[in-house]
Amino acid sequence: MPEHASLERYDERDIPFSRVRLKPGSAEYKAYYARRPEKRAVDDEIRSLPGLLSHEGSLAEPVLFASPEGSFFLTDALRDAVDGPVAQKSVELGPARMSGYLKALAVYYGARAAGITELRPYHVYSHIGRDFRRYGEPVPFEPGWAIAFTVEMDLRMTRAAPRAPTVMESGRQYVEAARIAVQLAAAVRKMGHPARAHIDGHYRVVAPLVARDAGLGEIGRMGLVMTPRLGPRVRLGVVTTSLELVPDGPTRDATVIDFCERCRKCALNCPARAIPDGGRTETGGARRWRIDADACFRYWNVIGTDCARCLAVCPYSHADNLFHNAVRWGVRRSALFRRAAVRLDDVFYGRKPVPAKPPDWMRLAG
Ligand code: SF4
Ligand code: SF4
Repeated sequence: MPEHASLERYDERDIPFSRVRLKPGSAEYKAYYARRPEKRAVDDEIRSLPGLLSHEGSLAEPVLFASPEGSFFLTDALRDAVDGPVAQKSVELGPARMSGYLKALAVYYGARAAGITELRPYHVYSHIGRDFRRYGEPVPFEPGWAIAFTVEMDLRMTRAAPRAPTVMESGRQYVEAARIAVQLAAAVRKMGHPARAHIDGHYRVVAPLVARDAGLGEIGRMGLVMTPRLGPRVRLGVVTTSLELVPDGPTRDATVIDFCERCRKCALNCPARAIPDGGRTETGGARRWRIDADACFRYWNVIGTDCARCLAVCPYSHADNLFHNAVRWGVRRSALFRRAAVRLDDVFYGRKPVPAKPPDWMRLAG
């Protein structure tokens, strides 16, 4: 039986972002905690914390926080553009040429890499959770294809994690991913085929699973997609369509799993102890590391940024340059090399690296 046949669908109402927005006393609040009473205490506690981008957060920098607030405002403003009318006259290229063209178009628009997968039920959320205009609506599974792509997060900004530059960069790249997805979906519709963009806050698909199955990378210890050239230092975008395409093979990269087994740097550096230090476990029909999403999200709501310390210290996040790509080449080919690379990363960057200084121009912000 293929692995995907046994995987359960995620309910978007269960992710911390959706849960903490429930207003105490509202009908949605009562209905949710009647169904998931075990989540009520932790969510009530998170709701009492300062919150993401709050000026009361322990790492708050009000001038810098205005930047991600602007980015999230823009991403949200794109929500009504995720879908639209389909041109009456359709353009046909055939699945193989169209697949190549659309992936190249995504890269032309600004993506670093793009891949395609046929949609599986577990790619699609069972119910809407973050979009409060349609909270609780079931999401029907419709067969089709997904074009997934990555956008790069700036190395210097992410290395300053968990301070403000990291959430500035997240916000900026969510805008980029949303813009590319909206633009790409619109282009597909202009060719006469239905297409929908999936953007932050308005996903109908679980982007990391789609990206992995579209061949963009393996999911590592910290629960993010580890891409070959940038590791987890990316954000993801997705466009779904009924236009027939040719899927790329899913990523099943045993070398990433082996490296993560040995490395454990993200687990050691996580301030919330949210990343498991041990082996993978069987969860929801798949063998993987299961991060404590509640502990991670709780920490964000204490400090006011989206932390990303795990992403910053990961050896796969290093620069996309000749030296690090030579190391990546060796890591993919030899277990002995992987063992040495884990040690050498500690020697050169430290087992517990100190957060980098923000770029100089940020001193203007006070
Ligand atoms: S820090 Fe190490 S263990 Fe964590 S995801 Fe990166 S390579 Fe894997
Ligand atoms: S974002 Fe921060 S708190 Fe969350 S898992 Fe990564 S290091 Fe831990």
